[in-house]
Amino acid sequence: VPGVATVRVAQTSQRTTRRIVAVASGKGGVGKSTVSTNLALGLHALGRRVGLVDADIYGPSQPMLMGVEGTKPTAHDKQLQPVSTPYGVPILSMGQLVAADQAVAWRGPMAAGALGQMLDANWSNQDVIVVDLPPGTGDVQLTMVQKHRPAGAVIVSTPQDLSLIDAKRAIDFFVKAGVPIIGLVENMAGYACPHCGEISDPFGNGGAEAAAGVLGIPFLGRIPLDIAIRMASDAGVPPVSGNGAEATAFRQVAAKVDT
Ligand code: ADP
Repeated sequence: VPGVATVRVAQTSQRTTRRIVAVASGKGGVGKSTVSTNLALGLHALGRRVGLVDADIYGPSQPMLMGVEGTKPTAHDKQLQPVSTPYGVPILSMGQLVAADQAVAWRGPMAAGALGQMLDANWSNQDVIVVDLPPGTGDVQLTMVQKHRPAGAVIVSTPQDLSLIDAKRAIDFFVKAGVPIIGLVENMAGYACPHCGEISDPFGNGGAEAAAGVLGIPFLGRIPLDIAIRMASDAGVPPVSGNGAEATAFRQVAAKVDT
């Protein structure tokens, strides 16, 4: 049947052209999930067909960040169906597969298996899959680089020295695995006081850009430490969808990743 043949060809070519962008950090709490969400939406706004996979077993937060907390994916013929979000980027999350507090106790092979299921889901015509990895360089990351060959990795760090040392370890991990580093995002950079407007730098200033320079990797931009980011994120409204300075900052990062 010609129709079936056409579909087959289309599926094959989609498989080979779909790109995985891994978002990683050396340690937790630096804003890797927040950057993943807003990067995915920023790429979507640039016209890419984007899906998001949340592989962070320690804190699968994408259902909350994308405004679809409590949703579960369905499966057809054992293939997962990504869950639609209000923002045009469908998601699959470890947190949707098991209770969040259970995922932490998963052994490496279980978490790696779940990552495979989420990446092999029915992504239809998505051409970019952003993957929110767990922090550090464990089993899930190993499976990611060995089995699923990301097109590149985005590393998220705060400006603090300690965070940057961890970020360097993550960068090293991807370089050794032969995964191109798309670049480094400095998150929680510069705090604007909501009362007087004075900018302070609780974690230092410019450290990530300097580190990117030393390491010879692209610097993708700076996201301010901004209470509006935390509040919008907690409310399931990704800040990049707003029109403040923080939305612009996220859009600029997405534009750099897209080039
Ligand atoms: P990670 O994925 O690295 O563990 P998260 O993205 O979950 O980090 O962020 C940790 C916490 O910090 C969340 O409450 C999040 O809303 C908040 N956060 C992240 N980035 C910023 C920022 N630039 N400004 C304010 N709060 C932020």
